[in-house]
This record gives sequence, C-alpha cells and structure tokens, in this order.
Amino acid sequence: MAESYDVIVVGAGFGGSSCAALLAKRGMKVLLLEKNAKAGGKAMAFSKGGFTYTAWVVIAAPTMDNRFEAVLKELGMEGKVELVAPGIQGSMFRQSAGRYVVGPQDPTPDPNKIFDWLEVPEAERADALNLLAELTLMTPQDIAKLDDISYGEWLSQRKINKGLYSFLISLVSDGCFVLPVDAVAASEGITVVQQMFLRGGGVFCKGGIGRVAETYAESVETFGGKTILRCRVEKIEVEDGKVTGVVTEKGTFHAPIVVSNAGIQPTVLKLVGEKHFDKGYVNYVKDLVPSLAFLGARYFLNKEVIKNVPFGAIFTTESAWSIDKWLKAKTGQIPEDMTVWFEVPSNYDPGAAPKGKQIVLTGFLGPEDPKLTEKDLKPWLDKGDEVMFKAFPDLQAAIESKEYVTAREVSILTRDSVLPGVGGECIGLGQVVGQGGAHKPSTKAPIRGLFYVGCDAGGIGVGTQQATDSGMKVADEVLRYHRVRKATV
Ligand SMILES: Cc1cc2nc3c(=O)[nH]c(=O)nc-3n(C[C@H](O)[C@H](O)[C@H](O)COP(=O)(O)OP(=O)(O)OC[C@H]3O[C@@H](n4cnc5c(N)ncnc54)[C@H](O)[C@@H]3O)c2cc1C
Repeated sequence: MAESYDVIVVGAGFGGSSCAALLAKRGMKVLLLEKNAKAGGKAMAFSKGGFTYTAWVVIAAPTMDNRFEAVLKELGMEGKVELVAPGIQGSMFRQSAGRYVVGPQDPTPDPNKIFDWLEVPEAERADALNLLAELTLMTPQDIAKLDDISYGEWLSQRKINKGLYSFLISLVSDGCFVLPVDAVAASEGITVVQQMFLRGGGVFCKGGIGRVAETYAESVETFGGKTILRCRVEKIEVEDGKVTGVVTEKGTFHAPIVVSNAGIQPTVLKLVGEKHFDKGYVNYVKDLVPSLAFLGARYFLNKEVIKNVPFGAIFTTESAWSIDKWLKAKTGQIPEDMTVWFEVPSNYDPGAAPKGKQIVLTGFLGPEDPKLTEKDLKPWLDKGDEVMFKAFPDLQAAIESKEYVTAREVSILTRDSVLPGVGGECIGLGQVVGQGGAHKPSTKAPIRGLFYVGCDAGGIGVGTQQATDSGMKVADEVLRYHRVRKATV
C-alpha cells in the first residue's frame, strides 16, 4: 500500500523546506521529498577539508526582521542554528585614480561618507541625497505602482551621479536579482533597496546558510511528518484534473495536495506533463524568463588574505549591467569591468576554516545555460579572477586549490533543465518587468491541489529571503485550501 499524506512537498530548498515545516507544525500530515542528500537547494551548506561554507557566495538580506527568523520562531527552532549579522562589509570602489578603495564599513554610514567614497562632487550631493531619501521613504502603495517599468527606467528619470548609480546597481541590484538593471521591475528593485537601507544586508549562518533549510527539513519530522532525502520525484500524478500523489525512485506516495519547489517550468513541462494543462498555460509557462546565472570561484587559501570583512562587492563606475552590455557579453565580448561579489565565511564564523587558512567565494553574472562547460566559460571565469586579484593583490599567491562555479553545477544540484539554455539560473524566475510584483506567477497551478513554492512564485525580496517568504505564504494558502475542502467536500 502506498503511504498517504495530507500534502507532499517536492524539494527542500528554502521555499519547500520552510513551507513543509510550517504545515507540519500547524498539524498537517506532511511528506517532504528531496533528491539531494541534504536540504538547502541553491544555498546548500558544504564542508570539505576542514572548511565549512555555502556552496557559493550567498549573502542573505535583510539583516533585521528577516523571514528565516520568522520561520524558526514559529517552529521554536531558533536555538538550532546560529544566524550571524556581522554589521560590517568591505565593498570596494575603483576610484578615478585607479585604486580600489574600501567604503564606509559601519552599518548606517553618514551619506556624505558614501559620497566621498563614490567621488560624488559637492554640487551633485543635494540631488544624490534626494534620490536616497525618495528610495528610502517611498510607501509600499507607491512602490506597487512600479510593476510595469524597469528599475533602470525609473533611475534614468532622475538626475544621478555616475558613482552613485553604479553603487545602487552594482551593490544593491546586480547581485540581488542577477539581471541587468533595465530588465528588473522597479517595484522589486526599490523594495529590495529599501530593505537593505532600512534593515541592513549581510546575514549568514554558522556552518553555511543551508543549515537553516536543513533545520526546517528536520522540523518536519519533529512535528510528525516525514522527510525523505536522496529521493527524486519522477512524476506528479494527476487524475481528472486533480493531483493524487507522486512517483519517486523510492515508491509512490499519495496526497490530495502537492506543493512543488522544483520550479514552475520543470513542474509543468516535466513532472506533471504538458498534456494536463491547456495550451495557453503551457505557452505562458514556456515564456517565463529565468534570472541569469551567478558564476564564480572557491579559493582555498593557505593563509588569511582578506582581513575582518565577511563580504563585499568590487565595482567601478562602469561595472553595472544593462541589457545592451549583457547582449554584447553573450556574444563573447566580456566587459572590461563587471561587479564581483565575495564572501569570506571564516570572517563571520571562526570555525569555517582550519586555523590560519581561509576560503573565499566569489560570484558574478554569467550565462545560465547548463550545457556550457568550464572551458566554454573560461573568459568569464578568468575575468572574475582578474578582478579579485587586482582588488586583493596577495590572493593569487595564497591559493592552495581553486574550484569554479558554473550554471551546470547549479542545475545539477537544484533545477532540471527543461527548456534550451535554462536551468542554471541563480535565483529562479527572473524578477523582470512583466514577472515582478503583482505580475508574478500564481502560486496555485490550474490543476486541483497543485501549488508552487520558492523563488518562482509568491515571495518577495532577495533569493533566499524571497524563497522563504514564498514558503510562509504558500503554507498559509495550502492550510486554508486543506481546511476549507475538509469542511465542505
Ligand atoms: C551561485 C549562486 C549565488 C547565490 N547568491 C545569493 C545571495 O547572495 N543571496 C541570496 O539571498 N540568494 C542567493 N542565491 C539565490 C538563492 O540561493 C535562491 O534564490 C534560493 O535559494 C532558491 O530557493 P528555492 O526554494 O526557490 O529553490 P531551490 O533552492 O532551487 O530548491 C529546489 C529544491 O528542489 C529540489 N528538487 C528539484 N527537483 C526535484 C525533484 N524532481 N525531486 C525532488 N527534489 C527536487 C532541489 O534539489 C532543491 O533542493 C544564489 C544562488 C546561486 C546559485
């Protein structure tokens, strides 16, 4: 006899694991299935040779009042993981003299210190200050009106200094959406900028941020549910327009509700199958646009090269991405300047590296096609190295070993590639105009009992925060669906 549950959650990324844990805590009989040996998905924790780290650079935000804490609190699991918000960062701006200079490190710096760093001339500071004030004080209602223009268009309607522009894009946009600024919906861009300004950026977890998702997945069992790891779902079963369960390599499981964290495109086109949806919906799903990939490196160092600062972005007046710049890069013209993010786990978690050693993770925009090999991506990966070695002249000589991060690795770990050229995206669906704010895909599929969770639907914010936000909202929605049907059908 196949086992039966109230709800099956497919995938234990931040979206799936938080949703499953909350539903179990609230009394539903939950089965959480994950194909990997661990929860965490695109932000999974790793350990190797005495180093512990997140698979790649993952800098979560906001620092205060974030979704990770909200879920942990409802589960009563706050003591199980140690979130760390170091309050300092080491972003570096290449000033006009050609030198990379570290910006103000305090969490709420005087804007004039930022303007000095970005070389904003005295005459342009009043406009710069007005822009920062407008971004910070805009109401949620006014932000919601900006779903239909890009963040780039919105900024271009204002007088803005080049250094400040690059700061707002490179530092608080390129890395948060992994998209060119003129593709990002202004409503999404401004929401995230506000979260950073008002609630801080840069929250981590000792042992890697994936430890948070592992805790959620463990909580499912604490609250009477079941979590099965190394269990790939091959098929979501549908009869008469209604989900009935899933088929996996470890057997078949039944439930009237399935919540998929596998991504909308893989869910519709592969796990359920096109034939169960009408053509218009299938076309809509195929037309959805993912974020780009975040390529990067893991440098294992024989000494501590980057002192104190846990993370930062390296940027210039020319490093921000636009659609035109991206289109050129896609044809092989890698830009001279691009924003590179870095994270140093042992600078917020002293146990993250053997004594005297260091691991440095980096990330930068790149193509999301999982078919591209390390060899195909060499010009991108070399550029990432070049930026890091210029900003940190002692880095190269201290490298004991180096691994590159590509979209292929991301896709294998997390999302199946079901359409040509996609699968290795960084975030999930892109927060672009037409897919941002109120235009995000519905969390409810047009099949009875089928829901989506994670960065593809329902949440707002940066990557891991967005996925967890979705987990919380979908948990509310699923519980309501379950209770109403129990009461009425
Ligand atoms: C290189 C890189 C850098 C990033 N940097 C940041 C950052 O700095 N800050 C930030 O906040 N975010 C960052 N992100 C993004 C963030 O990690 C993701 O947006 C977020 O974790 C996505 O969560 P999710 O729940 O939507 O999906 P996922 O993490 O993709 O989780 C989906 C889960 O479903 C499982 N699954 C899929 N198919 C099946 C199946 N058929 N059967 C069973 N299980 C299945 C997968 O194994 C996975 O565990 C980064 C991501 C990458 C790749």
